Amino acid sequence: MSATAPSAGDHEIGDVIIEMRHVDKFYGDFHVLRDIDLTVSRGERIVICGPSGSGKSTLIRCLNQLEEHQKGDIVIDGTTVHAGLKGIEDIRREIGMVFQSFNLFPHLTALENCTLAPMKVRGIARAEAEANARRILERVHIPEQANKYPVQLSGGQQQRVAIARSLCMNPKIMLFDEPTSALDPEMVSEVLDVMVELAESGMTMLCVTHEMGFARKVADRVIFMDAGEIVEVAPPESFFSAPQNERTRKFLGQIL
Ligand code: ADP
Ligand code: MG
Repeated sequence: MSATAPSAGDHEIGDVIIEMRHVDKFYGDFHVLRDIDLTVSRGERIVICGPSGSGKSTLIRCLNQLEEHQKGDIVIDGTTVHAGLKGIEDIRREIGMVFQSFNLFPHLTALENCTLAPMKVRGIARAEAEANARRILERVHIPEQANKYPVQLSGGQQQRVAIARSLCMNPKIMLFDEPTSALDPEMVSEVLDVMVELAESGMTMLCVTHEMGFARKVADRVIFMDAGEIVEVAPPESFFSAPQNERTRKFLGQIL
């Protein structure tokens, strides 16, 4: 294990896949990310938590440059990304993203949602794209929903489709931004179950979530953000049992 690789529970952690060095981001005059340093190893599972408005979404959106940063370096699998980078589309393709609102195409079936990008962006033939999509819908436990439209699916099923759609692009990294926050409580576990299985498969994952059971189960490290800063980073055992920072303690006191 290299010096930068953190300890890794029960799975192997590889080389560095994401590096943020002294990253600052502003929305106009508003300093939303402050001197962010974060190194993520291939296969690592990171959970990011923190109060609303602390910059969690902005941080993960900077990784695929849905938001651009103004200072510092972001390196994704060896490529330094920045606004206007030629080839940013190639990088985005390697990074799956799942949002709070499922963002499925309403006029396409589950299967079609899953085959669109592989066919259009990767140029995969329909038969192959469909076979792959069916395999992945199976993997997220909804093969029987393949021909339904989003409106015919529950929130949990829609989120499983959204995860499947990302996986169909064969990403190297999966980003989750509060994927269960919009779900009725009884549907949360069906989405978390799929995320746990994905984590166990070795996917590199950054998950913004307040599902602390999930964090305890799969995270290699938990990150606490507040006011645009990474305040604390620790493996879940110590993060929950012995948080070092007063702000972390206060936050955990509110949500646990
Ligand atoms: P979180 O995901 O932790 O709730 P965000 O990254 O969404 O936080 O937002 C961090 C801060 O940046 C908030 O104060 C939010 O209002 C502000 N913000 C987010 N997006 C924009 C934007 N496009 N323009 C201006 N301010 C924004
Ligand atoms: Mg957010």
